[in-house]
Amino acid sequence: MMHIDFAVIGGSYAGMAAALQLARARRQVLVVDAGQRRNRFVDAAGETSHGFLSQDGRAPAEIAADAREQLMNYPSVEWMHGSASDARVAADGRLEIKVGSETISAGRLILATGVRDELPPVPGLAERWGRSVFHCPYCHGYEMNAGPIGIIAASPLALHHALMLPDWGSPTLFLNGAYTPTEEELASIARRGTQIEPALIARIDGVADVVLQDGRTMRFNGLFTQPHTVLTSPIAEQLGCALEDGPMGRFIKVDDFKATSVPNVFACGDAARAAGNVTLAVADGAMAGFGAHRGSMG
Ligand SMILES: Cc1cc2nc3c(=O)[nH]c(=O)nc-3n(C[C@H](O)[C@H](O)[C@H](O)COP(=O)(O)OP(=O)(O)OC[C@H]3O[C@@H](n4cnc5c(N)ncnc54)[C@H](O)[C@@H]3O)c2cc1C
Repeated sequence: MMHIDFAVIGGSYAGMAAALQLARARRQVLVVDAGQRRNRFVDAAGETSHGFLSQDGRAPAEIAADAREQLMNYPSVEWMHGSASDARVAADGRLEIKVGSETISAGRLILATGVRDELPPVPGLAERWGRSVFHCPYCHGYEMNAGPIGIIAASPLALHHALMLPDWGSPTLFLNGAYTPTEEELASIARRGTQIEPALIARIDGVADVVLQDGRTMRFNGLFTQPHTVLTSPIAEQLGCALEDGPMGRFIKVDDFKATSVPNVFACGDAARAAGNVTLAVADGAMAGFGAHRGSMG
């Protein structure tokens, strides 16, 4: 059994930001990470991350690697590659997790485990995720070069894309049987200049070509859709943390200091907010670090 003051599960932007604050408070902290960042598809596509101050246009993996190098300069930080599982609150109130054959007992636990995206089942869409198919206009809208943009409806959340994306180009909303706008919504969409295409999609081809079941093909600079998000890890549920329903999926409920409903368990980043990005994950992680440290001095 390994005993540690603080364990951070998830060593990406949120988790490393939390660990950094604890390391700077000269506390022992273990980071457990399975290496499956949400934006790894951007790296695989050779694309870059946007909107994070001072790191705009850099590869997501490079940002994470720099952060890790700086974090590991602190001697009180230990890194463990692996997937944490079987979380439980022990009789003495400590938090136990398993990583492979190792059992870890932590005084405080920070969950920074992120979410995964479930895409609508359109052939050819998943292969282009992070390359020419995205969900966040602030992250990837500028790179549409103010040209034609396709919106693949996955749910009524498509309305937000239909109203937002005219600021980044000329959008066409493909309803694809997933969303039926009301009369009022149709009027709002028309006022913004977004075109509506009711024909069903057969597949995505080329960079971002939408092939319709009626045989037409429409070419775009890129596509946006609305994934359903799922917590990557069941650890929060195993510990009994309260969850909240967001428009895209469930997330871990936290207070202003990122404390969950379970004593000594904190959560940050995409796993603990309705919608996220790298900037917000880092800010949440820093706050979770402060929150976990603050409560450990009594
Ligand atoms: C296609 C795409 C493009 C994006 N582009 C941008 C962009 O340009 N700009 C931007 O700001 N944001 C972008 N984002 C959003 C960004 O990726 C997320 O907001 C950010 O990664 C959230 O950080 P996080 O630390 O909360 O979670 P993540 O980065 O998802 O990291 C979670 C970590 O926890 C680990 N983990 C999970 N469960 C366990 C476990 N049980 N044990 C051990 N480790 C575990 C995972 O392996 C992973 O390393 C994009 C997302 C996608 C999908």
